[in-house]
Amino acid sequence: MVRQMEDDNVTDVSEECPPSYPHSAEAKESLFAAFDPALFRRNSEAVVARLESHLADLSVRGLDLSDPGALSRAARALMTTERETIADFDDKRLAAIVDLYVRTGIQVHSPGYMGRQFSGTVPLAGVVDFVGSVVNQPSSYYEAGQLPITAERIMADELNRFIGWEPGRFAMVTTSGGSLANLTALLAARNRACPGIWARGEHRGRGRPAIAVGEDVHYSVTRAAGILGIGESRIVRLPLDRRGRIAARRVPAVLAAAERRGLEVFCMVASAGTTALGAFDPIDELAGIAAGRGIWLHVDGAHGASLLVSDALRHRLRGIEKADSLTWDAHKLMFVPAPCTMLFYRNAQDAPGAFQRRVASYVFDEEPDAHCEFDSGDRNVECTKRPMIMPLWTLWAMYGRALFAEKIEHLCRTTNEAYGVLTEEPDFETLHQPEANILCFRYRPQGIGEDQVHRLQLRIRKQVRLAGRFFISKVNVRGVAALRVVLMNHQVSAEHFRMLLAEIRTTGERLLRDDDLA
Ligand SMILES: *Cc1c(COP(=O)(O)O)cnc(C)c1O
Repeated sequence: MVRQMEDDNVTDVSEECPPSYPHSAEAKESLFAAFDPALFRRNSEAVVARLESHLADLSVRGLDLSDPGALSRAARALMTTERETIADFDDKRLAAIVDLYVRTGIQVHSPGYMGRQFSGTVPLAGVVDFVGSVVNQPSSYYEAGQLPITAERIMADELNRFIGWEPGRFAMVTTSGGSLANLTALLAARNRACPGIWARGEHRGRGRPAIAVGEDVHYSVTRAAGILGIGESRIVRLPLDRRGRIAARRVPAVLAAAERRGLEVFCMVASAGTTALGAFDPIDELAGIAAGRGIWLHVDGAHGASLLVSDALRHRLRGIEKADSLTWDAHKLMFVPAPCTMLFYRNAQDAPGAFQRRVASYVFDEEPDAHCEFDSGDRNVECTKRPMIMPLWTLWAMYGRALFAEKIEHLCRTTNEAYGVLTEEPDFETLHQPEANILCFRYRPQGIGEDQVHRLQLRIRKQVRLAGRFFISKVNVRGVAALRVVLMNHQVSAEHFRMLLAEIRTTGERLLRDDDLA
């Protein structure tokens, strides 16, 4: 391979002609014009004005779902024609692009948005993100992202007050999303349990490495088992109780059975807020079981770790101080733009343990100074990483913890009210008392067949989405489809939820009448 490259591909640089770069005064002028600060200001002001009216529009709307072909044509029609030179700036084109961008999104700031876990962001978070996009300070290395890295340390300390680990001994890294945080935590756990795998790809232990997860664990965890070579078939499934939480008292027997099958469970994953129901696994009990067996306990709090900042709701994560690692998405219940994820380790030395090799010479300093200690390049997958903490830290700095606590409490209260509304509607079936801001239910009028229930929910969800007033999601609960609302928007009231139910009912009645469920 190397020989071939030498023979075929490597030319002798000394024989090459010097490159010629065509150059004209006009080209130079239009290049510089694209970076003109006055133009920047004009563009920003125009965009901000449009976003202001977008935010001010509180009409009930969900998603205007476009045909992909039509959208592609619309997007292409906005592009400048192919040309040799840099196109002149066109304010109308920019306005049209921004309008299309805003119009084709799920309307997260509207009370019609009840469907997914990403936020209607606090607008100020967007302003700070915008600053980050202009000053461009990627944050894996201190020299490039001094304030972001400092803010990461501050936020880690601020939030650890609610986790309760020993100050100075724990660590936090930001990652591009909760899925990557889960993968990274599992990697750290695997490297601790199977030290031979990283260098030699082999493990000489008691058994074959395996992980134990609740039946409702997020797919990023089971996928991580595939990526890490653990094997999806070596995932030990822990049974759930009626409320969708890992049934802790049944766990020891399941682990013992796994061991008899030759599996060595090195990591157990608890969910703090399952994606489906928002159920909180009993961390305290699971931590006791894990500790007795030397198993790493990872808590996937992508959705629900944010409840820690609320005095009223923190108890849902009782025992969190006993976990080894915690995934925490701030782009869900901390209302900042995605992605912004924090991965916490109780023991700081586990963080570099995820990646055992020294990184490359162009970033790794042969003569480490005091600043290198602040680099996170040896602790996260990314080399270049968004300074994602900045919107979060700025909100925390400007408003304090109460902004988050109050919004989370408000959302959970409204979700509970919605549950109350549901219980009074005989043609709806409740599936759980909500523990957070996620509520699953079914439209199930008297007399419909068992076999129709699943498809009816799926069809209703599609029809409601298509109608464009409300955006909700769906999920299988105990094998049968259910409708799912996730209240991320404090504009949503119980009244809006009643409107949603009315729309679901009308839609369901129509589907049943047309017998459109084949
Ligand atoms: C959302 C979610 C994830 C995935 O996080 P991303 O930030 O979307 O990658 C993982 N686990 C749970 C429990 C989640 O709710």
